[in-house]
Amino acid sequence: MRKTIKPIDIKSLQAELAGASAEEILSKVAELLDAAVFATSLGQEDQVILDLIARQGLNIPVFTLDTGRLFPETYDLIAATEQKYGLKIQIAFPDAAEVEQMVAEEGINLFRKSIDARKRCCGVRKMHPLKRFLGDFDGWISGLRRDQSPTRTEMHAIEWDSGNAIPKFNPLIDWTLDDVQRHLRGNDIPCNPLHDRGFVSIGCACCTRAIQPGEDIRAGRWWWENPEQKECGLHSRQESQPPEKI
Ligand code: SF4
Repeated sequence: MRKTIKPIDIKSLQAELAGASAEEILSKVAELLDAAVFATSLGQEDQVILDLIARQGLNIPVFTLDTGRLFPETYDLIAATEQKYGLKIQIAFPDAAEVEQMVAEEGINLFRKSIDARKRCCGVRKMHPLKRFLGDFDGWISGLRRDQSPTRTEMHAIEWDSGNAIPKFNPLIDWTLDDVQRHLRGNDIPCNPLHDRGFVSIGCACCTRAIQPGEDIRAGRWWWENPEQKECGLHSRQESQPPEKI
């Protein structure tokens, strides 16, 4: 059962955390919340956050979504990360009956047919398990950066996630990709080997490709769609303030 969510003034916290370091944002999470959780995709940013959580000794559980369509390299990275940090990454799976119904109705590769079909697939394989899993927590942490995508330029270190009705913290919101990669190299953090083959943002194998030098870093995800539409829904429903008192 979800822990009681403390009243949080999101706008005041956005002002307070503007320009704060990732460590300061993570410390604020631990200070404010009783049951925060870190949702990792095992991407470069998320490997940095996991490293910072471990360094700071924060008691924040870690989980990831297994859509059933991930790269083999991602599964290997889950195991390598658990071994390095001596922790368990919990896995949230989609509902089997929901996947079976979707595939029976629209096919195994429905995401190629239309944006609606792609969003249905992301809903079943990502958003629904995320929502179910987050139901046990009073806030979550993600690895979003402001310069990752045109849809993320207005984001703050803390947002109200209206879809899951809890606050979401983005400790790396001000980091550049160079900052991330410098931290990874400097601290010998395990990373997905696909990054060395031109994959920057890595999700499901069927919806991710390598990019060319100079291409936008999100160009390798759902490359057949317009940039403004390229969100899976996990991070697209933030508001600056809860809709009502919590
Ligand atoms: Fe489905 Fe592709 Fe979304 Fe993965 S990224 S959930 S395969 S549409």
